[in-house]
Amino acid sequence: MGINTKPMNTAAPTAKSKESEALLTYNEALKLILQECSAEKPKAELVPLDQAAFRILAEPLQAPFDLPRFNNSAVDGYGVIVDDLQDCDKKPVTLKLIDTVSAGDHNLLTELKSGQCIKIMTGAVVPDAVEAVVMREFCQEEDRTVTINCHGRARIGENIRLTGEEMEKGQTVLDAGTKLTPPALGLAATVGKALLNCYRQPRIAIVSTGDELKEPGQELSASQIYNSNSYAIKACLAGMHFHNQTGESANNLVRCLHTSDDRESVDSTLQKALETSDVIITLGGVSMGDRDYVKVSLEEKGVRTVFWKVAIKPGKPVYFAVAPGGKFIFGLPGNPVSALVTFELFVKPALKILQGEKSAAPHIVSARLQAALKKKAGRLDFVRANLAENASRKHEEDQTWKPPYLVTPTRGQDSHMLTGLVKADALIHFEQELEYAPEGAEVKAQILHW
Ligand code: AMP
Ligand code: MG
Repeated sequence: MGINTKPMNTAAPTAKSKESEALLTYNEALKLILQECSAEKPKAELVPLDQAAFRILAEPLQAPFDLPRFNNSAVDGYGVIVDDLQDCDKKPVTLKLIDTVSAGDHNLLTELKSGQCIKIMTGAVVPDAVEAVVMREFCQEEDRTVTINCHGRARIGENIRLTGEEMEKGQTVLDAGTKLTPPALGLAATVGKALLNCYRQPRIAIVSTGDELKEPGQELSASQIYNSNSYAIKACLAGMHFHNQTGESANNLVRCLHTSDDRESVDSTLQKALETSDVIITLGGVSMGDRDYVKVSLEEKGVRTVFWKVAIKPGKPVYFAVAPGGKFIFGLPGNPVSALVTFELFVKPALKILQGEKSAAPHIVSARLQAALKKKAGRLDFVRANLAENASRKHEEDQTWKPPYLVTPTRGQDSHMLTGLVKADALIHFEQELEYAPEGAEVKAQILHW
């Protein structure tokens, strides 16, 4: 029987394979990374509001005033005295229009007599004398009189947003550790903060390695390929909001370096990366090849290796080390899928911790496998896959629990085949000691949020 047709066992785990005994498991490796990175308390800096999107707040933000700051109208309409609308459910009521208040106007009207109303716009200060605002849709205005036909009485306070109803002065608006998502950033602006105290983002160097690499746009010789990893990893960083800023406050948060495979070039490029960055992501040159100098070069610079090789596929040769001064080095394997998958598995959680995020946990869901999977025992296989909603969960008569997703491996699972990853939106965790997972098995799928 050929190797391709060797029958696999059932889903039951086999005895621990030899390969996995020597290597760290995925969970062990990730735990070591998170331990090392958590020991480094991120520093804070003041960031202008318009550059603070998706940064992490380093201190709580307190409301410097009540929210809303003043009673204001929730609608465009007419401010009335509630008793004037007593009969409104039986017949239309006509009131005299005595004033108009728009958003931003400072209206000092203190008295509204019975039979009078004012016109008022959304967001305008509601004068104290007004008890309710009736929506414009229920009113007809003609010659300074307003006929209201609202099919019901008005309540005191109707359509008035009250001072402090959302939050009172001095209360915490945003906690330390909050990510400045669009609504959080909007709230920071609402309370008037022009500068925000955020955790610093680490400076990152991406170091590609390899004599065979040329940049896209250049001519290739017969034995050369294009450098794709630097661009893909830079895009991963952009997805996490690590950008170089342009303009006056330009910073060099992310820099790309390249080294050929000769020892001197590897040494000097890594030296430069260590001098200019807090996190170094090397690409390739960390495996078993004669000219894979990344690890040895770093070790000779006094860098402490935390681990090299993990029982995963793709990405087994992944390397992690710590340099003096709290700098972290991730050696990702050069195969393009391995580089991206190991970024997702190890670098992304580390960067989240290093920039002060509270949680680094990946987004994992339960899914029903749509095609049988086979492999050798010994490595946790991250199978590139598509997720779809499990429609069979919707049958109300069937109350049994079902995974919320269906998951189908994509075509092109080899670690040099980016096409299989392009089509994927999740990684199936095909557990380390399994050799077989039948169609219909329930599996864990890690959602890819690039
Ligand atoms: P290495 O880990 O250096 O042995 O590289 C493994 C494979 O990935 C080889 O086929 C390399 O040519 C390829 N590779 C390494 N670096 C890159 C890169 N930056 N872009 C595209 N392919 C790469
Ligand atoms: Mg190489």
